[in-house]
Amino acid sequence: MSEITGGCICGALTYSAKGDPVRMGQCHCKHCQRASGTGHMSLAFFKKEDVTITGDFTEYAAEADSGNHNIRAFCPTCGARVFGRNSANDAVVAITAGCADNNDWFEPQFIVYNKDKPAWDQMDGNLPAFDAMPPPK
Ligand SMILES: [Zn+2]
Ligand SMILES: [Zn+2]
Repeated sequence: MSEITGGCICGALTYSAKGDPVRMGQCHCKHCQRASGTGHMSLAFFKKEDVTITGDFTEYAAEADSGNHNIRAFCPTCGARVFGRNSANDAVVAITAGCADNNDWFEPQFIVYNKDKPAWDQMDGNLPAFDAMPPPK
């Protein structure tokens, strides 16, 4: 995959990612619903060394069911939620697909926290869907 670029609404916080995503998925957990204001977040996980972040951001760490922390980074000016990481795995960064300048490449491979999925948030029924977070491989 060629380089992926993206960023927040005001343009102050940007990302670029090279290589292929480690995985791509959609999460319906209540935190993702609150963070996005919609039914899910669409996340592409990349190796940390393949991702470059520029600009100021604010982070908010919320405890996940696992006891680890999901750390969400957003633009302090426009509030767009641009990337995140998990305290349990510092080697991977999740960029939000919606913030990509062009996100045609995004292809969800799985759905997590399907138990919290709102009925109105339609997903591809052929994707593997997990009630919560599947155990790490
Ligand atoms: Zn911004
Ligand atoms: Zn989530």
